[in-house]
Amino acid sequence: MKRNITVSATIGNANGNGRHSASTGFASRFEEQLTFETPTMKRYRTILLFGAPGSGKGTQGKILGNIPGFYHSATGDIFRSLDLQSEMGRKFWEYASRGELVPDEFTVKLWRQYIQGLEMINQFRPETEFLVLDGLPRNLKQRQLLEDTIDVVKIIYLRADLNKMVERLKRRALKENRFDDASDSVIRKRMEVYEKETRPVLDTYPKDRIVRVDATMSQIRLLTEIVKQLVPLKEAMDKEHEADFAGHA
Ligand code: ADP
Repeated sequence: MKRNITVSATIGNANGNGRHSASTGFASRFEEQLTFETPTMKRYRTILLFGAPGSGKGTQGKILGNIPGFYHSATGDIFRSLDLQSEMGRKFWEYASRGELVPDEFTVKLWRQYIQGLEMINQFRPETEFLVLDGLPRNLKQRQLLEDTIDVVKIIYLRADLNKMVERLKRRALKENRFDDASDSVIRKRMEVYEKETRPVLDTYPKDRIVRVDATMSQIRLLTEIVKQLVPLKEAMDKEHEADFAGHA
């Protein structure tokens, strides 16, 4: 069976691992859409990076995305690659500058088109790669909207004391020039949104898929803990792929 999907003509470099570099203008060209026919999509096998703002999801995600077989995608990075003069960019700014979530349908549609575009140009290969998803789903509605797109096989839940995370965000504001880290009230709002809207998403997944890790460990130890969880998953995926390949030979 075939189905139509719509992808943007140009894909921005927002995955953090620099694997694609024809990068400018995702936002401005997002509206110039092409329609392709693709085979009906299987759900992406997904490792979810979960945790409050400042818990280190992005840092770990970027490193994991450099390991063969893992593709990192962060919604925050996609949003930040939008041209702030475009309608979509303005919408992002409007919400993010208040510490609020961008509306769900818009977020999921943008992300879905983005990832399908990458799949189409072979940057992301779901048959042999896990999607390392960072910053999505961020509430129950997004969880539901993504049900037919992602198959969450493991959740890495990065936990840290609230004060520690706020401290990190303030440091990041200086380093990365992020407008949403710059004010205490916006940071407070993001923490509230996380507690109220995002945290409950965790309870909707089976407990045995959730791995809690202490986000205050050194980065290298944290990475080791996460990789330990991912090795068996990746080896199982490789085996399955080899068997499929042999079946077709
Ligand atoms: P952090 O996790 O540090 O808050 P992100 O880079 O993930 O930072 O997100 C920055 C902002 O982008 C969020 O505060 C929100 O406004 C917007 N955003 C990111 N992901 C989503 C999402 N899944 N749904 C709605 N808004 C999002």
